Amino acid sequence: MNEQIIQIGHPVLRQQARPLTTAEIISDETKKLIEKMQGIMRTAPGVGLAAPQIGLSLQVIVIEDRLEYMQQHFSEAELKARGRKPIPFHALFNPKITATSLEQVTFFEGCLSGAGLMGEASRFYQITVEALNEQAQPVVIEAEGWYARILQHEIDHLNGILCIDHTDPRTLTTRENYVEFWKTKQQTD
Ligand code: ZN
Repeated sequence: MNEQIIQIGHPVLRQQARPLTTAEIISDETKKLIEKMQGIMRTAPGVGLAAPQIGLSLQVIVIEDRLEYMQQHFSEAELKARGRKPIPFHALFNPKITATSLEQVTFFEGCLSGAGLMGEASRFYQITVEALNEQAQPVVIEAEGWYARILQHEIDHLNGILCIDHTDPRTLTTRENYVEFWKTKQQTD
């Protein structure tokens, strides 16, 4: 486990993170922070990381879903079921979910701060997010499938919410047992 990533039980993971100002977003300090978060996320490896996970209660998230991660762990059918497609690296500041689909989907989900635990979590299939990009320009993101799930997971981190909060405790599993017993299970609802 990457020791730079703060684990469940640390109070910072339960705090409301504060938004950044435009001046802060375009500062050199923030550029360095984004590079640092990118490095930690890739080393983990993970598909998203929120600033509170490295001890900073700031509304900053980074996301990247690479084809090689997907192909390592999932078949084409499993990727299709999850609506999982490559997402290029990007950072978002002060993100807010402004609309969601009625449809929710349930899959196993884990967290780099979750001590290796995974569980089934329901998420909206489709969401709209408003945020600022690395140039502090407003962006509107229409996301669906796994990208929508990643966004919901990372934005939750900024509001002190962890994916285990969405998880039926009876589905909790270690990563090893997930791979052995549950990975091929299809959506349940
Ligand atoms: Zn997480």
